[in-house]
Amino acid sequence: SKAQLFEKGTKVNITFNDVAGLDEAKVEIMEIVDFLKNPKKYTALGGKIPKGALLVGPPGTGKTLLAKAVAGEAQVPFFSMSGSDFVEMFVGVGASRVRDLFKQAREKAPCIVFIDEIDAIGRARGKNMMMSNDERENTLNQMLVEMDGFSGESGIIVLAATNRPDVLDAALLRPGRFDRQISIDIPDVKGREKIFEVHLAPIKKSKNLDIHKLALQTPGFAGADIANVCNEAALIAARNGKNEVDMQDFNDAIDRIIGGLEKKNKIISPEE
Ligand code: ATP
Repeated sequence: SKAQLFEKGTKVNITFNDVAGLDEAKVEIMEIVDFLKNPKKYTALGGKIPKGALLVGPPGTGKTLLAKAVAGEAQVPFFSMSGSDFVEMFVGVGASRVRDLFKQAREKAPCIVFIDEIDAIGRARGKNMMMSNDERENTLNQMLVEMDGFSGESGIIVLAATNRPDVLDAALLRPGRFDRQISIDIPDVKGREKIFEVHLAPIKKSKNLDIHKLALQTPGFAGADIANVCNEAALIAARNGKNEVDMQDFNDAIDRIIGGLEKKNKIISPEE
């Protein structure tokens, strides 16, 4: 059914506190929260509020989380869909889904519309192997029509995520569409420490746990990998009948996640 494709203007409880690190991205995105909360402050002097921003970064780095936090901080509904949902869809369906999404967004504005993996529909001509070009173009065209169809003052802000900004159709990046880019990088050791802190909070941990060591042992890990490590460590400790999670459990969990990442990298074929 249509409803399964996107979250229908759900209320979000996520705030910036749930997003660890990403300090620069947060500063930039804070501006968008303010646009949603105080639009008149910006339009008073004749300025136009932006309609969209592109969150650019590798998988699992918190792009979705940050988009949700914008909705949570501004206390507006959150609509989302993923470009990859349109892969292998019948001709005409993608465009009508996009139309539907924006119709609902207009009814609930102010709100956030989040489009994950926008590159799946927003690739420049001839660069998409997954979807028939006609269908991709129809969906992309509808997206452009929708973005041109509301003004910044209407209170809809479209955030889109991608790890391949280089393949996007230039039409998407024109002024009045996704004219801002916010980059979200793989966390450094400080960032990883902060992410560990967030995901360790609900875990029963032993006193010997050294967060700094954990961060040092996980170079290249994205936030999603760190969340995974924390969960895996808790499961390993439980399996071994412990009543708290200790450093050994974390070391085992890290080894397991590294093993998984290596396998994944082997399977994934290089993109174009
Ligand atoms: P994808 O491109 O694969 O959709 P993404 O960048 O949107 O990935 P999220 O879905 O936001 O990544 O992250 C997945 C999960 O990883 C989050 O729900 C959260 O648990 C954890 N996570 C990622 N980044 C952070 C972060 N900076 N702080 C805290 N948790 C994080």
